[in-house]
Amino acid sequence: MAPSKIWFMNARARRFLESTAIKARQILEQSGWLDGLKRGDIVAVKTHMGEAYNVGYLRPVIISTLVTLLKERGMRPFVTDTTTMPYHPWISRTLAMDHLETANNNGFNQGSMGCPIVIADGWLGTDDMLVDLQGRGNYLTKQFVARAIADADALLSVAHFKGHPAGGYGASLKNIGVGGASKRGKMNLHGALAGDKPVIDAKLCPGRRCEWWQVCEDCCPEGSVKVTDEGLTVDLESCVYCFACANLCVNMAGVKAIQRFDHLPTLGRRIADSALACMMTKDPGKAFFVNFAMDITPYCDCYGWTDTPIVNGIGILASYDPVAVDKACIDMMNAAPGLLNSEAEEFGALACGAKKLNLIKGKDIEAQVQGGVANGLGSDEYVIEEAPLDRSQAAINTFYPEIPARKLKPMYERNHPLKGLDTASFGRQTELMKDPICPKK
Ligand code: SF4
Ligand code: SF4
Repeated sequence: MAPSKIWFMNARARRFLESTAIKARQILEQSGWLDGLKRGDIVAVKTHMGEAYNVGYLRPVIISTLVTLLKERGMRPFVTDTTTMPYHPWISRTLAMDHLETANNNGFNQGSMGCPIVIADGWLGTDDMLVDLQGRGNYLTKQFVARAIADADALLSVAHFKGHPAGGYGASLKNIGVGGASKRGKMNLHGALAGDKPVIDAKLCPGRRCEWWQVCEDCCPEGSVKVTDEGLTVDLESCVYCFACANLCVNMAGVKAIQRFDHLPTLGRRIADSALACMMTKDPGKAFFVNFAMDITPYCDCYGWTDTPIVNGIGILASYDPVAVDKACIDMMNAAPGLLNSEAEEFGALACGAKKLNLIKGKDIEAQVQGGVANGLGSDEYVIEEAPLDRSQAAINTFYPEIPARKLKPMYERNHPLKGLDTASFGRQTELMKDPICPKK
């Protein structure tokens, strides 16, 4: 497969028009992707609107700026994500209603986006389309893609590149591979339909002496967990491998009685298969991927916390190829110096060239990329083209259609804020300073 093209703009910003939201819009315009769409096309803008109390997800203005462009070009966008499996006991996005409330609390709603917000797999996550992978999958043969994403004419993935506890990292492939799958699609990609189960080490569980035992039972949607004074039992027959109890056990009880340590390579390849299923619902050229490699934290936006970044902000990378754009983000992160006071320091991953997330997670995090190459979804080879920033007055007028002072002028003439005040009585004038830029300390 030929190397894929990636458009890139740096995360640095010092002047007007250098906002990352504006840069993403300019990349989208320069890529020519919109020229391949028709007026009236329904465009699923797939993003992650953040878990409750997470503060690392992409800021709403980034998404709304792209939605505005789509609307200007005559498309019908909707911003979308799907219900969760759940993944942890307190997750706030398992029902469409909960997900919409969380999105609203995080700043995503019809008012802020300028288009509908749609939970693509419906109320309980059962509104989906079954896609046959036609023998291309690493692990999956069929996958459930969320209905609203599958039915849309086009797909714009806007993803936050960061680490992820189970997937190794999260970006384009996970945004559509996990985020584009319905609830039962998520069960499938985690291996539950094939029969994978968590690994139980019941002797580690102290039973009801664990302060979390009641939550441990309650967080299982299948009722598979029972904790007695004697210890733990899990009915693996009914367990759908949803991670809720495992997350509780590791993160709150500090025990690893329910876990799966060999999961990452297979999960990564299944995510790539699920991403392929999502792409199979789209005609060629109708999907485009924008990764924001900024706030690169070791954990995902599905948790209710956000750690400090492990490297500095890199920039915006975009491509028709979700595999290549993810691989480029990983390579650029690894090439960058790690940051102090982060897991990069904690895990000895500060050096330029150190494989940051591999060292932090203790494993190769590129399984999604490898799976996407193996199933023919994309390439791990790429060429990066630095996209020029349009700094013209026409560009300014796009984002700042008004100069507010023009409106103030006649108002000031009628009702100047300083009218009638003895201004000299309010204080002393600034004295001339010899070196106003660098005054002597
Ligand atoms: S027992 Fe299985 S289904 Fe129940 S919470 Fe744990 S992982 Fe999820
Ligand atoms: S959280 Fe872990 S240690 Fe606590 S009751 Fe559940 S399985 Fe046992």
